[in-house]
Amino acid sequence: MTMIHTLGFPRIGAQRELKHAVETYWRGESSTDSLQQTAITLRNQHWQWQREAGLDYVTVGDFAFYDQVLNHIALFGCAPKRFGFGSTVNLDQYFQLARGNTDQFALEMTKWFDTNYHYLVPEFHANTTFELDASWLLDELTQAQSGGHRAKPVLIGPLTFLWLGKAKGHGDHANHQHADCCDHVLQADAFDKLQLLDRLLPAYVNLLETLAAQGVDLVQIDEPALVLDLPPAWLDAYDAVYNTLAAVGPKLLLSTYFGSVANHADRLRRLPVAGLHLDLVRAPTQLAAFTESWPVDKILSIGVIDGRNIWRTDLDRCLEILAPLRRQLGDRLWLAPSCSLLHVPVDLAQEAKLDTELKSWLAFAKQKLNELSVLKRALDLGRTAVHQELQASRAALDARDTSPRIHNPAVAARMEAITSHDDRRQSTYEARHPLQRDRLKLPLLPTTTIGSFPQTDGIRRARAAFKRGDLNDTAYHDAMQAEIRHAVARQEALGLDVLVHGEAERNDMVEYFGEQLAGFAFTQLGWVQSYGSRCVKPPIIFGDVSRPQPMTVEWTRYAQSLTTRPMKGMLTGPVTILQWSFVRDDQPRSQTATQIALAIRDEVVDLETAGIAVIQIDEPAFREGLPLKRTDWPAYLDWAARAFRLSASGVRDNTQIHTHMCYSEFNDILPAIAALDADVITIETSRSDMELLDGFGEFAYPNEIGPGVYDIHSPRIPKVEEMTRLLRKAAAVIPAERLWVNPDCGLKTRGWPEVEAALSNMVSATTMLREELSVTA
Ligand code: GLN
Ligand code: ZN
Repeated sequence: MTMIHTLGFPRIGAQRELKHAVETYWRGESSTDSLQQTAITLRNQHWQWQREAGLDYVTVGDFAFYDQVLNHIALFGCAPKRFGFGSTVNLDQYFQLARGNTDQFALEMTKWFDTNYHYLVPEFHANTTFELDASWLLDELTQAQSGGHRAKPVLIGPLTFLWLGKAKGHGDHANHQHADCCDHVLQADAFDKLQLLDRLLPAYVNLLETLAAQGVDLVQIDEPALVLDLPPAWLDAYDAVYNTLAAVGPKLLLSTYFGSVANHADRLRRLPVAGLHLDLVRAPTQLAAFTESWPVDKILSIGVIDGRNIWRTDLDRCLEILAPLRRQLGDRLWLAPSCSLLHVPVDLAQEAKLDTELKSWLAFAKQKLNELSVLKRALDLGRTAVHQELQASRAALDARDTSPRIHNPAVAARMEAITSHDDRRQSTYEARHPLQRDRLKLPLLPTTTIGSFPQTDGIRRARAAFKRGDLNDTAYHDAMQAEIRHAVARQEALGLDVLVHGEAERNDMVEYFGEQLAGFAFTQLGWVQSYGSRCVKPPIIFGDVSRPQPMTVEWTRYAQSLTTRPMKGMLTGPVTILQWSFVRDDQPRSQTATQIALAIRDEVVDLETAGIAVIQIDEPAFREGLPLKRTDWPAYLDWAARAFRLSASGVRDNTQIHTHMCYSEFNDILPAIAALDADVITIETSRSDMELLDGFGEFAYPNEIGPGVYDIHSPRIPKVEEMTRLLRKAAAVIPAERLWVNPDCGLKTRGWPEVEAALSNMVSATTMLREELSVTA
């Protein structure tokens, strides 16, 4: 029999029950008991679905009140000492680690590999100790077992756990990170984390013994770090670690995902584990490295169902791969999604508003469990046993393949017609610069903001009422225009040089554009956990992308009509739109990025025609698109930068293109950033004290830069002197003629009083610096 299982299931709940329960608890409006009860109900539901789909195991340990890495920090008793918690943490302490308390900032947060899920980063010190407290995991295990389920606990393996942590030394400090837009500066490791393995491993041994004593026969142990570029010492450690762990008791299924581990095939083959899981969606070609002389006593778990995307699986194609494997491996062939289903929404059946055709092309987590079951039956009982299911899958795929909703000949023709000039501005930056200077007449160190102004309660209420139908078009339009007038008046009063309209009309920087572009669809409940209780609802790019009509031109034109100062048009870039959506899987991502780029290009050109002289194309997700393996970086950077340039290059030389990226890890991709050829780039720098500008200086970044002079993530109002100090630091590295002054990021999460105070200080700091510079000149 072919065994089927899942590496993990979304915990948030089909209706985001966990989010609501956790947030109610945080507000002090519910008890620990009622929160625990929600968790129990959700787990039971998810296991029940796994059972109903015929999975041979249910997965235990994929639940978390906040984050699975934080669960492991609690499990191994290694919460940072600075919290003073001791080796066991209760639920309130657990939440304090995630969210901070009055004395301690929270653990840092960063992206889980190349997903949009964020985990809490373990803090390791040279003297960190580990002490097992398996009580939570054992409770969940007991819950599953008493529900009559065969339970497969899942753990993050010791090497991945260490690798994901941060080595801290004396005097090191961490900042609180805000995952909605910014990646965090990870400081260089203070010591070699691998030294901690000797202390950590006994806790894993202890845990496996405990699980065995509770009747567990199989443990899934995740080592996705294996798909990264690991140093040799870490790779060697795999032998030692798994020789020790495999001897303990439960069988171990070592699981890898998000990439290929073919380069480690020899090593993995000889590890004494019971089996190995491979991600064949992300890395299909790695299979050959393993099937050839796969040990006769080992399981191979094949991840054929995409755990990262929402498309219905091509079951026929899977069976072509699986049938010979089944003959070779017999019962040792297992099937699973490529990775945990954490990254997809829960249940497609809830989507009442998606049309049936589009729905027939999709599969969310629950549907993916059923696909596994169909594959299993096809392999075990023959294809005729699941004839109908295969037929339905085939029909949906064929329809999708040929649908006019997906294939737009005009887009194809336009793609075909792209020439090598289309992604180049007419002239070089050196030639453009004087033309823009003459047109814009800006002072030295021009001041601007990143685009959004506070999304006030009033704005949110108006939008909600508009969506409900309680506010008509005209009333909503008037309300938004009033917000624009307000934002423009404040900026003029503050004395800013390049103004923005404030983005009041936008709910979200990707959704806003997706809703107006052809080829995009939106779900009602397609939520995916981003971090903690925060969920996102990524758009689905299902077809060729085009822009039926202008998206932002009227708002921007209106804003420009209110002022004689330059009004900056504000767009989201092609790479960010791609990165924050579910992307079609029937063509390369680069091709979809190019289509989006052409649509944005149309908007850029229309803004220019409407008289807008400065246009910003935001690319906050440019860096997070980087592949996990460095060898794959150049190809990505090449097409991503090209997509950006394609969106930006339809304008005349005297139109100024800005871009914005909100993070501070640039040094390893500076040439690619320069290759965007934006006239101005605004970036986050205040939290890293302008340090990253050293890289820009050394590299001699050729165009203009606006290094953020204050951290918009904090309600704190920065003092004038702090900002003059940062500006002086910046001016020491970047020539003043190419420096801009702006905050780190958009201001939508802040309130007006703090924004006005902070920007007023920013303008004062700029005035002081201008005087200083004119004296030295
Ligand atoms: N223009 C956007 C804003 O100001 C940029 C946001 C971002 O970079 N994440 O909100
Ligand atoms: Zn930003």
